[in-house]
Amino acid sequence: MEPDLHGRTQRLEMADQSLREWDATVLDVSEDGIVLDRSAFYPGGGGQPPDHGVLLWGGVQTRVVGVRKGDDLRLVPYEDDPLPGVGTAVRGAVEDARRTALMRTHSALHLLSGVVFRETGALVTGGNMEPLEARMDFNLPEVPPGFKEHVAELCAQEVAADRAIEVAMMSRDEAFRIPDIVRTATNLVPPEVEVVRIVDIVGLDTQADAGTHVASTKQIGGIDVVKVENKGKGFRRLRIRLPD
Ligand SMILES: [Zn+2]
Repeated sequence: MEPDLHGRTQRLEMADQSLREWDATVLDVSEDGIVLDRSAFYPGGGGQPPDHGVLLWGGVQTRVVGVRKGDDLRLVPYEDDPLPGVGTAVRGAVEDARRTALMRTHSALHLLSGVVFRETGALVTGGNMEPLEARMDFNLPEVPPGFKEHVAELCAQEVAADRAIEVAMMSRDEAFRIPDIVRTATNLVPPEVEVVRIVDIVGLDTQADAGTHVASTKQIGGIDVVKVENKGKGFRRLRIRLPD
């Protein structure tokens, strides 16, 4: 299976996270949504919600407010917006403000998981994000005094260090020779996946990940560690917020 193919749709954002506008053709339309041959709408996954945006065609627009993932990627249109017929040439556009905020937020979570792992060895057990707000769960039995402030300071240092955030495709065998990947992804990447997308905050954190990220840690723009919650039995939840 091609890693950037979902059903009949080529996922353009896998290779180019900066892409915001592109040309496409409608392959299918139903009440479940619109299938394009090419799409840069992030469909959701790994805690990152789907993109919003618009399809422009024939002098009208179809607003896109979500994506349904099945055999195909189906773009969910807004209420009673007009729908393009099969074969229509459309111009797709991802809403930039929301996507860019989500890229910063997603990269912030990877930075946070890298910092917390380096400091404590704690593994991530879950996470979720909205634009500029996120939480990440860790298996962390002991929280030393001043932990929140210490993590905040380390996050600030890593943002200021402006580490490159690189995306690469590699074979499953190649990817699983990276120790960090084994730590985070052994149980998450299904056996039928032969090509793995790797997101590397160079020198800090390497993960198998399909999400969209900014190009360097400085572009995250800052990380406010809002709260460390004790959810019991070694389960700690860290909440972060990013500046506008
Ligand atoms: Zn991720």
